[in-house]
Amino acid sequence: MKIKEIKCKTGIGKCGFPGGGLAINPYIGCGHNCLYCYARFMKRFTGHTEDWGTFVDVKKNIKSVLEKQMASPRYKGKRIFIGTVTDPYQPIEKDYRVTREIIQVLVKHNNPLSILTKSDLVLRDLNLLKKIKKVDLNFTVNTLNGNWQKIVEPNSSSTKERLKAMKKLTEEGISVFAMMGPYWPLFTDAESLFKEFKKVGVKHLFTESFNTVGGNWTNLQKVAQKSYPGEIAEIKRILFNKDNFYQFYNKAQNEVKHLSKKYKIPATIYFGLGHAGKFR
Ligand code: SF4
Repeated sequence: MKIKEIKCKTGIGKCGFPGGGLAINPYIGCGHNCLYCYARFMKRFTGHTEDWGTFVDVKKNIKSVLEKQMASPRYKGKRIFIGTVTDPYQPIEKDYRVTREIIQVLVKHNNPLSILTKSDLVLRDLNLLKKIKKVDLNFTVNTLNGNWQKIVEPNSSSTKERLKAMKKLTEEGISVFAMMGPYWPLFTDAESLFKEFKKVGVKHLFTESFNTVGGNWTNLQKVAQKSYPGEIAEIKRILFNKDNFYQFYNKAQNEVKHLSKKYKIPATIYFGLGHAGKFR
């Protein structure tokens, strides 16, 4: 892993998620190195030519930059997401503690805060998070198959560890949301996952289809093929044919809607069923 300490000019920017808001990213790059990472496009904007997952730039001065920026009335009361194009609790956060420093600044301003992660390291900052009035923790959990999880998300906490952290956060009065995405053909067992989410107190669930663009499919195929050749062929059959894609994700959509009612967990679904052009 190539780690570089950098100085940032700004610590906060617009969030590209539906619903808007602001985004803070303590790092550029991500050591979790998920095979399906949606943030891979960041390489284009930062001049990195290395493989995604092999470098991390640490925004060493972000605390002092944010201290000044957050004093501006333009940010007052606006919702902030930490970790929109990096994981704020990836392994190096244990030593660098940049995310912790950011939260220390945010505690003073009390903006509504959402944190996205795949790591139970977030529990380290529980004492700070409890000081923020409106905070939610969003954990990605898309499979209960430990072997598949380790292949597609090689450096993050295991599903078991994440669920345990989610339970702890719920017990401590912090809202916990689940990102059940990508929704994998063959490897996402929605009903079993809903059962787990219910147990750990998930308040809202998001799910999305697997996005094959930006090198994600090539990457997945190259790495996962060795252990799952048959499954990879089946996933390819579903994802790269419009009729198969629609059939699979329509069914999945109905299933998620049904489970959402059954387990009383509201769900937001992004299955790209309106993007007919992408297969042509
Ligand atoms: S944790 Fe998120 S940002 Fe990091 S590699 Fe995985 S998907 Fe990308």
